[in-house]
Amino acid sequence: MLQPPQKIQSKEKRVKNFQEVCQGFSRANALGEARRCPQCSDPVCVRACPLNIDIPGFIRLLRESDFPAALQKIKEGNALPDICGRVCGAPCERACILKKEGDPIAIRALERYVSDHGQALSILKKKRVSSGPPVAVIGSGAAGLAAAYYLARRDFQVTVFESFPFLGGVLRYGIPEIRLPDKTIDMAVADIEEEGVRFETLSRVGQSLTIDDLWARGFRAVILAVGTGGADLKQIPGHFLGGVFFSEEFLMKVNVSEPDPALINDALFRRCKRVAILGAGNKALDCARLCLRLGKAASLIFPQAEDEIAVHPSDFKNAQEEGVTIVPLTRPLKLQGTADQDVCGVLCDRMDYADPKGDGQWQLMAVPDSAFVFEADAVILAMGHKPNMAVFDLVPGLTSTKKGYLWVEELTMKTPLAHVYAAGDALSGQLDVVGAIASAREAAAAVEKEFLEP
Ligand code: SF4
Repeated sequence: MLQPPQKIQSKEKRVKNFQEVCQGFSRANALGEARRCPQCSDPVCVRACPLNIDIPGFIRLLRESDFPAALQKIKEGNALPDICGRVCGAPCERACILKKEGDPIAIRALERYVSDHGQALSILKKKRVSSGPPVAVIGSGAAGLAAAYYLARRDFQVTVFESFPFLGGVLRYGIPEIRLPDKTIDMAVADIEEEGVRFETLSRVGQSLTIDDLWARGFRAVILAVGTGGADLKQIPGHFLGGVFFSEEFLMKVNVSEPDPALINDALFRRCKRVAILGAGNKALDCARLCLRLGKAASLIFPQAEDEIAVHPSDFKNAQEEGVTIVPLTRPLKLQGTADQDVCGVLCDRMDYADPKGDGQWQLMAVPDSAFVFEADAVILAMGHKPNMAVFDLVPGLTSTKKGYLWVEELTMKTPLAHVYAAGDALSGQLDVVGAIASAREAAAAVEKEFLEP
């Protein structure tokens, strides 16, 4: 059986605006999809979800149209259901047993429906007043917001410090409105404020605020949720050419200049018509979809096969419908430039699966003599990111892993600094949103263990 459709802007309309593409299920379709769930006694979807949300439990409550109770069931595990309901990679759906014979249950869309509709009904709740030890959380991306939520729910007095003027970190600046509107982030933040969490913006740890300042202000523990260090400049030869952009920079510029795309066109793309986006994750797909909305032809180039890329199938389908050209099994080797040092193409070779030793171990390999130039007058690099090196200067005493990420003790999430913990992308590179939330939950549990256990 197939999933029922969600409300969605037509492809003709949506490529002309920057508004959220999908509006989610209607009530009838949400209830219909909830009834399709087989309510497995040993649900593999729950094990596949990094937060182990009681998926059959919330779907059961949704079937009964008890949306607030369904939302509370999700929030037992997930700090940010409204955000996960839109942008989670949904490993739960990949595990769903119905996938063998048709569409998996649309768990992500049901989670979204519950958070959109359960929230409005539970708006009368009172703001929580916490009295436990004060804890500082540095960073207000998914990991920071989630850590604050979990701690506040355990009665800690939590303050989140954010260096930018607005809260949300990568959620706000790195995911476009077409998938995650600012108003959804604002509602998630408001919800966390209701848990008693305080926020201080324009506070950069190590500059306007040191760790010692935090101790002096009475904080008893700190969770660093500072994210990654942005694009990896060494990722491909030729990255210095004119017309080459990094996905983080591009997404942030579009996010802050939207809804006036002329600004971004002038600033970045004045003469360009064809953009090659190198990469296969959500960032790459988002960049390609925004390029289309800026009136460019957008091609997504990546070495994997189409069915191996780590994006949600509905986002991939939406991008294809809008006109993103998918160029799988193609490995970018080098950017090529004109005499004026402007990018004019990407030297690539073709990839294919081969069994070089004849032992049945098939692997992805370059096809001999398959090099060709993919012509493009702008390139967006969405293939790699580097560790957040700044944090080591800003917070003396931290140590790094071999790959340069923030080191924490396994299981306890402790850095070498006493009472300082860490969570999120800073530990291992870019995680899916749900991975960042799961890491934050571990860090919050570790703080709780330090303070609340005898
Ligand atoms: S958080 Fe993600 S993986 Fe977990 S139930 Fe929701 S959509 Fe599935």
